[in-house]
Amino acid sequence: MNKFEQLGLNESLLRAINDLGFENPSEVQEKAIPLLLEKDTDIVALAQTGTGKTAAFGFPLIQKIDAENKNTQALILSPTRELCLQITNEIKLYSKYVKGLHTVAVYGGASITEQAKEIRRGAQIIVATPGRMQDMINRGLVNITQIDYCVLDEADEMLNMGFYDDIVSILSTSPTDKSTWLFSATMPQEVARIAREFMRKPLEITVGHKNSGSSTVSHEFYLVNARDRYEALKRLADANPDIFSVVFCRTKRDTQAVAEKLIENGYNAAALHGDLSQAQRDAVMKSFRNRQIQMLVATDVAARGIDVDNVTHVINYQLPDDIETYNHRSGRTGRAGKLGTSIVIITKSELRKINAIERTIKQKFEEKSIPSGIEICEIQLFHLANRIKDVEIDHEIDSYLPAIYEVMKDLTKEELIKKMVSVEFNRFINYYKKNKDLSAQKGGEERRDFSAGSGAVRFFINIGSRDDFDWMSLKDFLRDTLGLGRDDIFKVDVKEGFSFFNTEAEHAETVMDTFNSMHLEGRKINVEISKNDGGSNSRRRDHNGRSSGGNSNRGARGERRSDSFGGGRPPRRDGRDGGAPRRKDSNSGSRDRKPRRSN
Ligand code: ADP
Ligand code: MG
Repeated sequence: MNKFEQLGLNESLLRAINDLGFENPSEVQEKAIPLLLEKDTDIVALAQTGTGKTAAFGFPLIQKIDAENKNTQALILSPTRELCLQITNEIKLYSKYVKGLHTVAVYGGASITEQAKEIRRGAQIIVATPGRMQDMINRGLVNITQIDYCVLDEADEMLNMGFYDDIVSILSTSPTDKSTWLFSATMPQEVARIAREFMRKPLEITVGHKNSGSSTVSHEFYLVNARDRYEALKRLADANPDIFSVVFCRTKRDTQAVAEKLIENGYNAAALHGDLSQAQRDAVMKSFRNRQIQMLVATDVAARGIDVDNVTHVINYQLPDDIETYNHRSGRTGRAGKLGTSIVIITKSELRKINAIERTIKQKFEEKSIPSGIEICEIQLFHLANRIKDVEIDHEIDSYLPAIYEVMKDLTKEELIKKMVSVEFNRFINYYKKNKDLSAQKGGEERRDFSAGSGAVRFFINIGSRDDFDWMSLKDFLRDTLGLGRDDIFKVDVKEGFSFFNTEAEHAETVMDTFNSMHLEGRKINVEISKNDGGSNSRRRDHNGRSSGGNSNRGARGERRSDSFGGGRPPRRDGRDGGAPRRKDSNSGSRDRKPRRSN
């Protein structure tokens, strides 16, 4: 008997679950499903984003509904159109083997008469945004006087968005003896108030810590001068060639400006905010899901609840006012058990906010500095080399090859490689030669200078995230393999196919000797001393929250012109990415290479 069967789910759901490939219920599902199946009760369920709340209410709801009765029996309220559609989709997937069950989405920005027509044809489940729902009730287009179940999904978000009055009014037209299921990531005052005033003795289940963020997300901050904010964002993108991120700004204006600037500078970016038409927002989301957009610049409201898998980075271009919003932002990454990074670009005056967030999410931030030009050049170079190595060949090219061979015929293999790589590399090196490093100083604090004569050596190693390492596990692996102490490995920076790290010079020989004779799953490990000193990446903060490492002569005031949107990216040549999905080649065939952490 599988785990889902043990929860009491019936055959048609089990079949759908099997199709979806879910193997085990998540914690919130394990707790909520048997309770909801067993009796008619109100419930308050608190669980972080990405923990599978939709199925936690969706499965029991589908099982309890009478598909032979065409009346509307359940109403699911959700904060945004995007979420509303997402939930509708999921419910349809879950119920695909339940004959006669119809789920209809009701949301603003689309034809209300169309939606009303769909409902008239029979909709046992309606998934709605509060505003449009209220509208439909007012116009008599929907009847919820017979419903047995009302689900308030992402209740905290709905209340954040000012839907309190709509919710209260909608609930008041529904029967008092229905069951109300409230799902939320957090429990602010307003949610507690809804539970108190509109629910009868709700059972409460909580998964993980209340208010705590997802532990698959690591948190980093980069201290910069305010005028360098945009430049810092660009460098973070350049230092992460495979970035797939949501960039949060506080206002629609900033969102639009940052996105426009990124596009102008040659990045695959787009803006998502409330001033766009519904059709524009749909188009943006579609491109983002297809990965034609690598950097989605969004306001909090517009990006609320977006569930796109494999977002690698959430970037807080500006910090939000409250910590809950920070939690919602960082929950866009690290979903479904994957690792993700939440980055904060911050100025000195905002530093104390980091401490406040750390206390709430019970996780430490790592302080990092914006990668230097040389570091970015190196990353881009190795990225390019890996891309060339892994690219799938389209045989359309075959007929051109004789002519191409003719052009290249006098080059040796070595020369050819050098030239191919230089085509891309030259633009980065030329651009970054002219641009200074960015990190701001925390006034008065000591920073260790690694660059000149202090004896740190930076290494390149050909293992990375595709070998299932993140910076922490790589650091452990290196330390254990080398037999070094806790702080002997620092500035560990993990990229997809390779990584960088520092040790003091005294350990350099050990590093070279140990790794250059080592294999990882049959592949030879290759370690080289890197040209850049990694000086722009500061060390992890010590337990007093102070930073060590980094370069002391950087980022002095007045180095750069004050135009915060200054400077472009190295020009992108025609068709380099062509808007096509990017990640195909970089992931292929690498997942099975589990690292063997001993020699
Ligand atoms: P939440 O509402 O808690 O933020 P979702 O319901 O949107 O989370 O689920 C997040 C993702 O996890 C979705 O892509 C969903 O399909 C997937 N998921 C849900 N339950 C499971 C499960 N038991 N096993 C594997 N994946 C799951
Ligand atoms: Mg959800």
